[in-house]
Amino acid sequence: MDCLFCKIIAGEIPSTKVYEDDKILAFRDINPQAPAHILVIPKEHIGGVDELNAENSGVVGYIFAKIAEIARQEGLKDGYRVVSNVGEHGCQSVRHLHFHILGGKQLNGNMV
Ligand code: 5GP
Ligand code: ZN
Repeated sequence: MDCLFCKIIAGEIPSTKVYEDDKILAFRDINPQAPAHILVIPKEHIGGVDELNAENSGVVGYIFAKIAEIARQEGLKDGYRVVSNVGEHGCQSVRHLHFHILGGKQLNGNMV
């Protein structure tokens, strides 16, 4: 499968890892949009939020528990934003489920 994030998981494309275990990987975004910009992905290939279902969605709760840990590690004590872009209207550019952690400054209040 020609998936950029599967290649990052496989180590075929280098990344700056923040956290890794058997289920998930967190790494720094190559084009950060905030002082802290981390992507958290499941190791299982899921295309996006729109491919989640009762069978494969357990990892999402696991990811969010780790997001809280990672944000603490990164010192984001004043808050942060968690975003998952979905499909064309959502401007998703990589079709492998990922959650952006954005923080380290006062973010814009506009959602779109
Ligand atoms: P999306 O636009 O799909 O929500 O987010 C994809 C993110 O992946 C973008 O923020 C983009 O900067 C990041 N990205 C794209 N290619 C790479 C890469 O090769 N390495 C890393 N670390 N991030 C990447
Ligand atoms: Zn993938």
